[in-house]
Amino acid sequence: MAENHKHYDNGEITVHWKPELCWHAAECVSHLPKVFNAKKRPWVDVRGASTDEIIRVVEMCPSGALSWSKTEPKG
Ligand code: SF4
Repeated sequence: MAENHKHYDNGEITVHWKPELCWHAAECVSHLPKVFNAKKRPWVDVRGASTDEIIRVVEMCPSGALSWSKTEPKG
């Protein structure tokens, strides 16, 4: 089931989060707290850092809960 998956788009990339895979290791939160803040809703703010930084931290996620893809240009 994919409907509980979250998608966060900054216009360049979309960060995908699969909550059922997240074991709250908090790699993302400790490496990039401006983007990943478990106390906020939504907890991912893709405007909090550059696209390169976000990709770097998304790829650190040990569980596979976080992934990213290029955002399709609109129009
Ligand atoms: S790094 Fe991955 S597993 Fe850890 S809290 Fe973030 S999303 Fe969840």
